[in-house]
Amino acid sequence: MLKADLHCHSSVSDGVLTPAEVVRRAAHNGVQLLALTDHDDVSGIAEARAAASAAGIRFVAGVEISVTWREAEVHIVGLGIDAEEAVLNAGLARLRDGRIVRARHMAQALEDVGIGGALAGAQRFAEQAKIIGRTHFARYLVEQRVAKDIKSVFEHYLARGKPGYVAQQWASLRQAVDWIVGAGGTPVLAHPGRYRISRAELLGLLAEFQGCGGRAIEVMTGSHTPEQAREFSRLARSFGFLASRASDFHAPDESRVELGGTAPLPEDLTPVWDVLAV
Ligand code: AMP
Ligand code: MN
Ligand code: MN
Ligand code: MN
Repeated sequence: MLKADLHCHSSVSDGVLTPAEVVRRAAHNGVQLLALTDHDDVSGIAEARAAASAAGIRFVAGVEISVTWREAEVHIVGLGIDAEEAVLNAGLARLRDGRIVRARHMAQALEDVGIGGALAGAQRFAEQAKIIGRTHFARYLVEQRVAKDIKSVFEHYLARGKPGYVAQQWASLRQAVDWIVGAGGTPVLAHPGRYRISRAELLGLLAEFQGCGGRAIEVMTGSHTPEQAREFSRLARSFGFLASRASDFHAPDESRVELGGTAPLPEDLTPVWDVLAV
């Protein structure tokens, strides 16, 4: 099976390596097909594509779009997009603007629990980035020794219900799918096992995603336990979704799974890259 990794982040969003560094690391790890999927931004694509060509690996232009579905935040990956497409870019620009407003509210919320300087601190960690997000705040809080690592910062401060969490209205599911399809891409539901929703809601999400034009779900991802990978393999079969393989790599010290580090897909599933023109 092809060694593919169709979901990862660069310093354009909340990863720490530049797009070219991500590609070189993936190539070094033996990845044969890579997609860069930064949050709500596509400006790393050109650099990544050039680096992939230099490294002799195949490349897919991607993006990970933030979506509000019912009360939940879900992520839709777009693969094989035209990164220049206007409607997609206008939608992403609006999400990035919303992130700036949210960041100010987050800093205020953290200030209210005695953690000062968070906006400037997060911005320092987002210097190379086109977006500001919770991971940048998390890195600042770790630096300030408010918590020992990124995971515990989220647990105690940045997850829903915690003092630094600020609810955000992201794109709708339909908008995200339409933007991706309109840009010639394939919509993939990212890390479906990570959403804290009931079983009934999960099935509703899968059905609604498919109804909007969603084609694939991530089965093998850094976010899934082996049991979840088996569960989403079953769901891919029963819904007729294509399957994706995706590390969701962010940084060498933070990510559980390396670039290209997930297990291969079960043989009977149809990989999403079968429908990507690469
Ligand atoms: P945002 O899009 O700014 O709300 O931030 C979401 C990002 O935070 C995700 O893409 C992850 O990179 C990171 N994240 C979310 N939850 C956790 C967690 N429990 N541990 C570590 N990182 C997390
Ligand atoms: Mn992230
Ligand atoms: Mn995600
Ligand atoms: Mn991601």
